[in-house]
Amino acid sequence: MFKINENYLQLNRNYLFSTISKKIDEFAQVNPNADIIRLGIGDVTKPLPASVIDSIHKSVDEMSKKETFRGYGPEQGYKFLREKIAETDYQKRGLKIDADEIFVSDGSKSDTGNIGDILGYNNTIAITNPVYPVYLDTTIMRLGNSDKLHLLECNEENGFLPEIPSKPIDIVFLCYPNNPTGTVMNRKKMKLWVDWALSNKSLILFDAAYEAYIMDEDVPKSIFEIENAEKCAIEFRSFSKNAGFTGLRCSYTVVPKALKTISSNGDVQSLNLLWGRRQSTKFNGTPYIVQRAAEAVYSIEGQEEVGDLVSYYMNNAAVIRNGLISKGWTVYGGENAPYVWLKCPEGHDSWSFFDQLLEKCHIVGTPGVGFGSNGEGYFRLTAFNSYEKTVEAVERINTHL
Ligand code: PLP
Repeated sequence: MFKINENYLQLNRNYLFSTISKKIDEFAQVNPNADIIRLGIGDVTKPLPASVIDSIHKSVDEMSKKETFRGYGPEQGYKFLREKIAETDYQKRGLKIDADEIFVSDGSKSDTGNIGDILGYNNTIAITNPVYPVYLDTTIMRLGNSDKLHLLECNEENGFLPEIPSKPIDIVFLCYPNNPTGTVMNRKKMKLWVDWALSNKSLILFDAAYEAYIMDEDVPKSIFEIENAEKCAIEFRSFSKNAGFTGLRCSYTVVPKALKTISSNGDVQSLNLLWGRRQSTKFNGTPYIVQRAAEAVYSIEGQEEVGDLVSYYMNNAAVIRNGLISKGWTVYGGENAPYVWLKCPEGHDSWSFFDQLLEKCHIVGTPGVGFGSNGEGYFRLTAFNSYEKTVEAVERINTHL
């Protein structure tokens, strides 16, 4: 009889978003006229920038002509995009990242989930609690609920920022700006992590999906702003949340050539080569049309349009954050991230607050406990709805709760 990978049986059944939908449906049936405002799912709502759309039209036309049609492309991404990324996101900011260290992909979800393919099974792995669930679930898929998995507790006492591990850890997933808490890591704290990784020969898997939302000069947009991080870190970046590519799908992963380790036979191994090998074996590249769309993000117009999108959502984040703080709510995030992490009022857990918010204010958010046990008693609101709806949501909360 064939066997399944039984590690999948150890995964927490993810009831979060299905339970939310079920509760909304039930509520809407009983209250058909309720105008429900959704501040739950972390998906953008504004359309793609005009320069991106123009570029898509042009490349669709190229695909229709014999002379300009493209079939399979390079698995790591077209040179035109890798060079643009290296130049704009790194070199112009004084960071030494070359185009051959950029691997274009179809999403940071895939890459943060797949990176384990090139890492050994005997590593100890640390993941924050609460966490973007992909790191945890894909680690369990590979290793099972193993004693090699350690949780870094993030809570009110440490401002939802993990402490440097006291136990030996080989690999750590860090995500800043953070989903779900909206917290960020300043330069000093990030340097502590990089220095720790270098001295322990550990690897940092750094998810920077929300870097575009960083407003504070003291918060690095890339882990490679920290000296020597190219020897201990891989960075994941996405076009989803800055340029609205959640449906179009494009991201990239930076695997520096300086990132090396030693295999059991004593040879030095390059992670850049290993990831290149992994991608060219299991991935046939991001569509040409989508890579041309991503290239347009780096045009002068594209950069302006992306800046406008980010400002729009960050204005919403400020409306939520400031509106709630003014009425005495305890909130985290929302200053350098499109998420506001709210402490539920006395006597409420994450789910009972969800119910109250829906029933009294007709607002949907995400219960913090869905991101890990330390999320219990907290609640995530997103800045991705319209300005008008966001203002109305805050008014409803401050009037009815
Ligand atoms: N990383 C984090 C922290 C996220 O919150 C998300 C999406 O919500 C992703 C990665 C996924 O990004 P992508 O759309 O590029 O797969």
